[in-house]
Amino acid sequence: MARVHNFSAGPAALPECVLREAQTELLDYAGSGMSVLEMSHRSATFQSIIDDAEASLRRLLGIPGNYRVLFLQGGATLQFAGIPLNLMRTGRAGYLLTGNFAKLAWKEACRYGEAEVLATSEDTNFDRIPNLEAAGERASRNDLDYVYICQNNTIFGTMFSELPPTGATPLVADVSSCFLSLPLEVERYGLIYAGAQKNAGPAGVTVVIVREDLIENGPARADICPTYLGYQLQAAKGSMYNTPNTFGIYLCGKVFRWVEQTGGLTAMEARNRAKAELLYDLIDHSELFHGTAQPTSRSIANVTFRTDDANTDAAFIAFARERGIEGVKGHRLVGGMRASIYNAVSMESVEALATCMRNFEASWS
Ligand code: PMP
Repeated sequence: MARVHNFSAGPAALPECVLREAQTELLDYAGSGMSVLEMSHRSATFQSIIDDAEASLRRLLGIPGNYRVLFLQGGATLQFAGIPLNLMRTGRAGYLLTGNFAKLAWKEACRYGEAEVLATSEDTNFDRIPNLEAAGERASRNDLDYVYICQNNTIFGTMFSELPPTGATPLVADVSSCFLSLPLEVERYGLIYAGAQKNAGPAGVTVVIVREDLIENGPARADICPTYLGYQLQAAKGSMYNTPNTFGIYLCGKVFRWVEQTGGLTAMEARNRAKAELLYDLIDHSELFHGTAQPTSRSIANVTFRTDDANTDAAFIAFARERGIEGVKGHRLVGGMRASIYNAVSMESVEALATCMRNFEASWS
């Protein structure tokens, strides 16, 4: 069996040991005589699977007791609506536009209230995180229900290296593509959410971590908020108002435990930074490849780069594929290449990509 070096942006590489464990347990989970795929979500066995997943995540991130953890469906995209519907109590929020997904979230919020753009880097095709000072000043005026950021911009390969100073205004962050890549200071946020399909598990699970006081009075827009999207209800029902993505949650739990067993988030960050540095260093010394994100805004999860010519980019992508390297085609909004180097992408895979880039450059000149 030959597994490729998988640099897909998501769904993305999962730890092989997690896949093997799931394979072993597929027909008979823990002596239950059935697969997790076949098991009632109301069973004691599944309850312990979801409880263990949450406990493991709480240990990893050091989630304080006054934050609730939800395992929802509908992708990160459904939360673009869930956030304003639950949190826009006075009807005004601030958005930092740092990429496509932040913009989609902002557009969705505009349907429900006043979503003010506090800063944007769209003028340079989102190649940087904009200056946070002005946005922070505006946010601290305290008339916003929340300030929204997309902490790692999967398509553009940028990442916040510090958080905007929002004072008492709750910070809401889409951390889909940097979730579990590095430690997060959960107390700094009102709400954190992530689609699982990059670092945490398969597509179909979205983790929402939300401060209890922000949801205890029910959705801000209870008049129109779909019942399913009510955070208070989902918290009260332990993410089981209806049938959750049982198998997805089971796999997330296994990935959380793998992160714990491999040293936790500090060790994960060190490995991710080493992988990213290897590629950025190569790009910075290359005559052929150029980074597309400004150096001070670079992501440690998605490395975006290109040559000066779309045909050369295509030739490189084909060259890489012939060498067992998959998923490096860039998103159409940026072009070029993108290597997503999430937790389950090993240094060995990153070294294989680096060698491939060097060999391609040597053959090209
Ligand atoms: N936010 C970010 C940062 C993403 O990378 C993505 C998808 N890649 C989304 C939101 C949308 O996620 P989903 O497809 O799960 O709705």
